[in-house]
Amino acid sequence: MRTKIRLLIVVTLMLLGLAIATIINVSLNFREYNIKSAVDKAKLTATIVIDGLTTHMVHGIMDKRQFFLDQVSANDDIKSLWVIRGQKVIDQYGEGFNTETIRDAIDAKVLKTGKIHQEIIEGVDNISLRVTIPYIATAKVGNPNCLNCHNVDRKDTLGAISMTYDISSMRTNSLFTLSKILGINFLFIILALFLINYYVTPFLRMFSDLQKGIKKAYTGDFTHEFKSTAGGDADKVVNQLNILFKKIQETFGDIKVNLAAFIPSGATSSDPLHEANTIIHELSDIYKFKKTIELDENRTIVYGRIRDILELKFNFKYFALYEVNNKHNNRKLIDITGENDSICNDNIIHENALKCRAFRTNTNVISTEFKDLCQECKADDLDYLCIPFNINEDASLIISITTKNKEEINKFLSNVASIKNYLEAAKPVIESRILMQQLHDASLRDGMTNLYNRRFLEEFIDQVMGQAKREESTYHVLMIDVDFFKMVNDTYGHDVGDRVIVELANVLKDNIRKADLAIRYGGEEFIVMLHNATDDGARHIANKIHSKFAKLVFDVGAGEKLQKTMSIGIAKFPTDGNTIWKCIKFADTALYRAKNTGRNKIIEFKPEMYSEDLESNPDY
Ligand code: GH3
Ligand code: MG
Ligand code: MG
Repeated sequence: MRTKIRLLIVVTLMLLGLAIATIINVSLNFREYNIKSAVDKAKLTATIVIDGLTTHMVHGIMDKRQFFLDQVSANDDIKSLWVIRGQKVIDQYGEGFNTETIRDAIDAKVLKTGKIHQEIIEGVDNISLRVTIPYIATAKVGNPNCLNCHNVDRKDTLGAISMTYDISSMRTNSLFTLSKILGINFLFIILALFLINYYVTPFLRMFSDLQKGIKKAYTGDFTHEFKSTAGGDADKVVNQLNILFKKIQETFGDIKVNLAAFIPSGATSSDPLHEANTIIHELSDIYKFKKTIELDENRTIVYGRIRDILELKFNFKYFALYEVNNKHNNRKLIDITGENDSICNDNIIHENALKCRAFRTNTNVISTEFKDLCQECKADDLDYLCIPFNINEDASLIISITTKNKEEINKFLSNVASIKNYLEAAKPVIESRILMQQLHDASLRDGMTNLYNRRFLEEFIDQVMGQAKREESTYHVLMIDVDFFKMVNDTYGHDVGDRVIVELANVLKDNIRKADLAIRYGGEEFIVMLHNATDDGARHIANKIHSKFAKLVFDVGAGEKLQKTMSIGIAKFPTDGNTIWKCIKFADTALYRAKNTGRNKIIEFKPEMYSEDLESNPDY
């Protein structure tokens, strides 16, 4: 509306300016014209007077001239008219009437100079024109020759005629004309303003409506329906805008519905443009993350990337990532930032993942919600948010974010949806890497006993040996073989043979520590590698295995029982051999010796055994 008022004021001022310019122009021209016509009239009157006086003179009736002059003066516009006799005429013919004398300085000046004088005399009530015209002596052929009657030279001033014209009507006329022009202009201005108002108002209304709609669109609200009463192209533009806005609204609606699952917390906004932009950024980041981890070799690298996302994208400073083995119900710390310890009561929780509240309840655990929410949290001075995420039936992840600042928990919470989007993207990759790991692990284990197999030994022995050398640790290699095993198969069948093998494996598992390795090397041949054991300790374990196996009683049916013995050869790394393979060979030598010397015994390798064996059996 302000625009309209401004427009109307500008137009009014322009029209008023035009009107004033016209009026000034007209009034100036009008005055000039009136004065010019009054002067022309005076000149004409003077000519008539001169011609009349000449005629009177020619006819010798100069004494009757006053009547003629009175007749001429009778004109309404002539206020006064008088004739002035020049000095040379006075000198020749005398003074003349007493009215024919110089009345003022103008008369005197005109007589002297012989030049016409005219001036406007403006009074309050009236306005008049004073004209004094000299009467110059002429001597032209065809005209009365002044020099015939007057003792003057050519071009001498014989006299002058003075007149005062009343031109007051000029002022009234011009005032009347000007008021007419003013009236017409005023009417024109009113009409112009009315027309402008009539035609411009709908456009201005449309512009203000457009402004309103576009302002709303800036905030992402495309619901505005534009209106126009301006008609023509304006209506077309408005209709097109309405169609465009409707389309945008529908498109953003669709995008919102389709991407609702990906909207990170904090992205929800009334501005769909801003929201779509945030979602697209989020999706693009997740896509890049997914593409990257898809090419990662194992899940340790994938977990490393999850750590990077938590650290670099979400700016979490203190957090830990755990992996839960759902089947074995244990939890493993994958990664933790800084030099912090896990805030959990690790020993218990790691062995029994169900103690982890987040894992057990499969809900986010937010410490600020309730005092001592998780009983297994050992950090009293920290607040925490623990997020569980299920990968598949075999594995779950737990992310535990900690802070000393209670307020930060809300910031953590606002990122949960986004974090889960990343975990969701990582889920199939982690799942496939777990599967790959399981397949690989399976290929390294013996299916019957679940002990490591020969392939494991081949694959990892270099690694084990390198580590042993670096740490200067030792391995006692026990080569174990069941005595007369073939007989079991032959007598009781393979099933019984298998049972003996499985039970022997269990004896091995039960009698070694975590750092030790038990490997099924061949049919009923096993290797046990005792890590950092003393010689006595190794002997003790070997004896334990030996005697426990000997005590096993197998029910072979029909009330018949079976008991078996084993032989064990022992060699020590690195004392006996500087490679594990050599030690395996030497343990086998000792075993061979045990077999050859009656079986059911434990023999430790001595270097001389090797040369003796070589002597007695060059193929060995
Ligand atoms: P020795 O006292 O000299 O060791 O005599 P042995 O009969 O035990 O001889 P050896 O160790 O050579 O016997 C190995 C036998 O173990 C041969 C094979 O039939 C049997 N065997 C190998 N693997 C399996 C298995 O997985 N199951 C069963 N039942 N028998 C197996
Ligand atoms: Mg055997
Ligand atoms: Mg054997």
